Amino acid sequence: MSASILLKDTIAALATPIGEAGIAVVRVSGPLASKILFTLFKTVLKSDEWQSHRLYYGELFDSSNKILDYAMAVWMKGPCSFTGEDVVEFHIHGGQYIALKTLEAIFTEGARSAKPGEFSERAFLNGKIDLTQAESIADMISANSELSLRLAQRQWQGAFSKPVAVLRELLLECLVRLETAVDFPEDDLDFLDRPKLKKIFWEALQQITCWIVDYEKGKILREGLRVVLLGKPNVGKSSLLNQLVQEDAAIVHSQAGTTRDPIHKNIVLAGLTIQLIDTAGLRNSAGEIEKIGIERSLAWFEKADLVLAMFDLSSPLDNDDLKLLSLLGSKPVLLIYNKKDLRPQWDPHLLYEHFNLKRPVQIKSLLISAKNAEGIRELEKIIPELFGLSDFKRKEQFFINQIRHCEALNKAKVSLEMASRALDSAASPELIASDVLMAIQYLGEIIGKINTEDILDSIFSKFCIGK
Ligand code: GDP
Repeated sequence: MSASILLKDTIAALATPIGEAGIAVVRVSGPLASKILFTLFKTVLKSDEWQSHRLYYGELFDSSNKILDYAMAVWMKGPCSFTGEDVVEFHIHGGQYIALKTLEAIFTEGARSAKPGEFSERAFLNGKIDLTQAESIADMISANSELSLRLAQRQWQGAFSKPVAVLRELLLECLVRLETAVDFPEDDLDFLDRPKLKKIFWEALQQITCWIVDYEKGKILREGLRVVLLGKPNVGKSSLLNQLVQEDAAIVHSQAGTTRDPIHKNIVLAGLTIQLIDTAGLRNSAGEIEKIGIERSLAWFEKADLVLAMFDLSSPLDNDDLKLLSLLGSKPVLLIYNKKDLRPQWDPHLLYEHFNLKRPVQIKSLLISAKNAEGIRELEKIIPELFGLSDFKRKEQFFINQIRHCEALNKAKVSLEMASRALDSAASPELIASDVLMAIQYLGEIIGKINTEDILDSIFSKFCIGK
């Protein structure tokens, strides 16, 4: 889909949902927009008296020149419009029939039906908005909370695209310097200033890494966390789940093996949605049915964002506990020592030390009594903290929410790391330049400094019709 083909057509679509409502808005954009307006819509004004961006009342005619509706219309003359072209909107009574007949009349006058996101795509192609802004429109429309709306608005204001553009410019300057060094090899030292380049690459990498981390945090905020309770039978998993959800959702019993089907419950901690999953206790000596439950527990373990690994302080550690520890691998985990109200049979510090030795990142642990609701508030605090999400205000900074952006950032990071390594190993300016160029291209993909049809198609096809 090339810009020139696209911009010749006049497109039209219903910009409001189909169904009955007070009003509906039909939008038209393109070279025929004003002709369509003056053909179909009659007011007391002559066409040369119409002012841009003013709403006028009048009669709307259908394709057989019969009055269809008493409506309002606005003409937003290009380039001062959303798409940058002439845009006309008809604000009609919100019935399906009127909307369909209005569109029919518009199509008779030469416009065609707009594809999903085509108005926004035109805005992008005409340089009215960059790609991240276009994507933020879709996010504003689908926002279902104050936070998600605010994040989309920040993206619309360029909170992400502006710094990406600045970073890209900086790398472009480096590229120019590298290419000059290629062209004038004898002056290599003057042009290249390797320490300075190294510093720029390092800072750029820091920034990109920060954005990637922000994306991950934002993803947790948007999609929530899956927290899985794991431990041998009777350590108190169901008791803890019940405390966290404040209801008797899971059966608590001194008989081992009562939870066989995993139990799911949602809670919200510090604005973070958490799906809690109580699983069948892990033990070697389980019967047939219990074994199926254990298999399911292990499947949930794989899908967990965080594992609450529970141990019973009041009974000696055994092979089932050690097996759980060995299972945890590198998953994010919180060690929970339960039944602190009873006499401890082992030293939690020793278990922690032993376990922590094998892990690259330090983990947290907590003593609780699920039965007496002791340590529950601390647990509720620790979970958002573990993901750096306890401060509500800080959450607004995680506005990078498109997987496309994160992928481009990851690729830019790899290219820049290669450039950095090439620089360290005193590689030729050509080699370094090719990596820097790749990084520049990936950053360009984010804001739309590219001409790749597939990327544009995949972005705008996610929009609704009329946007
Ligand atoms: P699960 O099999 O791991 O889900 O364990 P449950 O939650 O069913 O608890 C097993 C038994 O331990 C029950 O009799 C609970 O009342 C008891 N229990 C759970 N937590 C505590 C605790 O903190 N202190 C004491 N004393 N007993 C507990």
